[in-house]
Amino acid sequence: MTDTLHIIGGGMAGSEAAWQVANLGQKVVIHEMRPKVETFAHRTGNLAEMVCSNSFRSDDDEQNAVGLLHWEMRAAGGIIMTTADQHKLPAGGALAVDRDPFAETVTATLTSHPNISVSFEEIDTLPDDGQWIIATGPLTSSKLADAIAAETGAEALAFFDAIAPIIYHDSIDMSKAWMQSRYDKGETEEERTAYLNCPMTKEDYEGFIDALLAADKTEFKEGETAGYFDGCLPIEVMAERGRETLRFGPMKPVGLTNEHDPQNKAYAVVQLRRDNALGTLYNIVGFQTKMKYGAQVDVFKRIPGLENANFARLGGIHRNTFLNSPTLLDDQMRLKSKPNIRFAGQITGVEGYVESAAMGLLAGRLAAADMRGETLGAVPNTTATGALVTHITGGADAKTFQPMNVNFGLFPPVEGLKSGRRGRKDRYKAYTDRAKLDWQAWLGTSDANAD
Ligand SMILES: Cc1cc2nc3c(=O)[nH]c(=O)nc-3n(C[C@H](O)[C@H](O)[C@H](O)COP(=O)(O)OP(=O)(O)OC[C@H]3O[C@@H](n4cnc5c(N)ncnc54)[C@H](O)[C@@H]3O)c2cc1C
Repeated sequence: MTDTLHIIGGGMAGSEAAWQVANLGQKVVIHEMRPKVETFAHRTGNLAEMVCSNSFRSDDDEQNAVGLLHWEMRAAGGIIMTTADQHKLPAGGALAVDRDPFAETVTATLTSHPNISVSFEEIDTLPDDGQWIIATGPLTSSKLADAIAAETGAEALAFFDAIAPIIYHDSIDMSKAWMQSRYDKGETEEERTAYLNCPMTKEDYEGFIDALLAADKTEFKEGETAGYFDGCLPIEVMAERGRETLRFGPMKPVGLTNEHDPQNKAYAVVQLRRDNALGTLYNIVGFQTKMKYGAQVDVFKRIPGLENANFARLGGIHRNTFLNSPTLLDDQMRLKSKPNIRFAGQITGVEGYVESAAMGLLAGRLAAADMRGETLGAVPNTTATGALVTHITGGADAKTFQPMNVNFGLFPPVEGLKSGRRGRKDRYKAYTDRAKLDWQAWLGTSDANAD
């Protein structure tokens, strides 16, 4: 048994983890490198600084997965949500936050808690003993990142996310698309039909390239591209290099036969690959992009079969340090090779303030139970928190793992409800009703054990 938890990083996840653990009666030390060591995005020495937008996104806990995550964190007495509510700004259905007072209040609340102390220092090695949570975020300092990579293997720690868009399977028109692996490769039927293919005629392809070239793009910030361009070019950059580049790259049509029109070879094919074990989400293979979000929707809906696509997340390329969590972490968020260390927040491969804080909340509760010599049961994957942690610690495909926002595609389906666009409202309400009951039951066991 250990009586003090150490948390590296006092951002969204580290702050929430500290709060949970301290309120469950354990001592916590937060080790935060700012303001002594700065990042390119943070401006202050406050804990829980919001580095960019001031939005926690939708606050609708009946129809939106991030709104449901808000609800779950409020139910668990989370400091990030309680403080966001105190400093809320008018923003329609979204939860916008007055960022400086928000971070100042979190900092003051945590530093005045009798169970919490803050040490303003950079930690640059991996601890061998004691209970630790690493929550150093997308801008983990380079020395600590090196130490993590030395433990996990360099290939298991990424420094950029190159996200291809992810689409809900039930919004894809399967009267145009078909399932087939290139050259029907694979030992099993499942492997031979692992890809979802969308065919293009020459005319479709030319129109698509024109739209790509004309689309609005986000510029790279200085220093952001370092080491990046080697393996993972954005599709619009490929198109700029030559109109045929994509047709000889991710859109090559070879080895594929359109089952809806076997006599005619497609001029180009866009391939999608399953993104989660449930088979509810598909990512577009090789389609990482810096196009602006609105432009992505316009351009990708030109792809035959994706005209009505519903996007679980759009593509992007950012500086982001994150682990290959599906291979490295167990379902208690512990590093398999060093179980005294948990990871939380964006470094685990979730994306966003709210998701990061939620993973901090969970890691904190799991660590607090460990410190009492107990093990908390797994959070049901029917809850937003559980769906996210299940995704990063096993549900996602490790080979193509990229950071993920919370979305209903991560939830196991509720049986007996209409699929497709028409049934969406009822389906989302059923997901959120089920999640709330299951989350409260899990929280009950989490709190009861601490009493
Ligand atoms: C440029 C940029 C823009 C972003 N914009 C948005 C946005 O608009 N909306 C959104 O939802 N998300 C955004 N994100 C993602 C956002 O960073 C995360 O959602 C969220 O802040 C992650 O929470 P976290 O606790 O995991 O990391 P952070 O909040 O970044 O906290 C990590 C903390 O660890 C500290 N730290 C790092 N290394 C060490 C070390 N070795 N020792 C001690 N302390 C250390 C850092 O100083 C930091 O305080 C953005 C990220 C970046 C990089």
